[in-house]
Amino acid sequence: MGEITRQKLSRIFDMIWKEADKILAEWNPCQINKEMGTCMAGCYYACRNNAGFKNLIEFDKYVRDNSFCCDGCPHLGPEGCTVQALSCRLWLCDAARKYNPTAFEKLTILRRHMNKWCLGSFRAPKKAAINYAMNVLNNKSNNWVLTGIKNPE
Ligand code: SF4
Ligand code: SF4
Repeated sequence: MGEITRQKLSRIFDMIWKEADKILAEWNPCQINKEMGTCMAGCYYACRNNAGFKNLIEFDKYVRDNSFCCDGCPHLGPEGCTVQALSCRLWLCDAARKYNPTAFEKLTILRRHMNKWCLGSFRAPKKAAINYAMNVLNNKSNNWVLTGIKNPE
């Protein structure tokens, strides 16, 4: 891997982010419609009796407040995500995966790169993700990458 520096991880982070942008722009797997307040999961789950939601009120809130899979995240602002969170950028729910398996495959390749560099902390802004990766890659903490344990999807 060569010497691990913040600058290097930052460059890798940016490269992965840029590639993800291209994939999402080309395939639009989430089909987000801000005016309607819907995304692929909204349509998908709605067609399946709102599976995954405890009740209609919960479903309604989830879909209509445009929070989608960001529901409950402290980084969610009125206009959407307020940080660069790579783990989120590369993640798709079941509905979006099924709607666009090609985009999912392409994002999966990027996720492997992200995981190789330990940059996939859950809902983490760029700086926090890099801090974590620095710690792990410099052997300051255990990690599945170094121990050979498979990363959970
Ligand atoms: S990943 Fe799923 S829930 Fe999240 S925005 Fe995309 S379609 Fe909606
Ligand atoms: S960090 Fe992730 S879950 Fe949180 S608002 Fe941003 S994209 Fe959504």
